[in-house]
Amino acid sequence: MDIQFITIKKVTLNNNCPECYCIGGLSLTFKQKFINSKLYKSISSEIKHEIVCKNCNSTIYPVQWTDDIDRVFEYQRKAFIPKTTSTYLKKTAWIIISFVIAILFAAILALILPNL
Ligand SMILES: [Zn+2]
Repeated sequence: MDIQFITIKKVTLNNNCPECYCIGGLSLTFKQKFINSKLYKSISSEIKHEIVCKNCNSTIYPVQWTDDIDRVFEYQRKAFIPKTTSTYLKKTAWIIISFVIAILFAAILALILPNL
């Protein structure tokens, strides 16, 4: 099973970096969890976010956030529209399902019409 967090939205923040104090280097990324297995493909509602400074190449963790970053993050989080969650069954899954249904059907037929 392949689980990936795919970037859905990236915003540049006009805040000072808590590490190097430069302005305009911070970028906030929203990522959503995608699952790709043998039987199905699915978009989950699980969202990850991350703030990275392009200037000093460091990840800015929530504990380091200033009040300004907190405010901008809250705003961006509310404005963020995640992809609708969905699950698509793959061909293999449909084959298994059809097979199970066929067996059940045969079993029911055998019960109803034992002389057949
Ligand atoms: Zn920085």
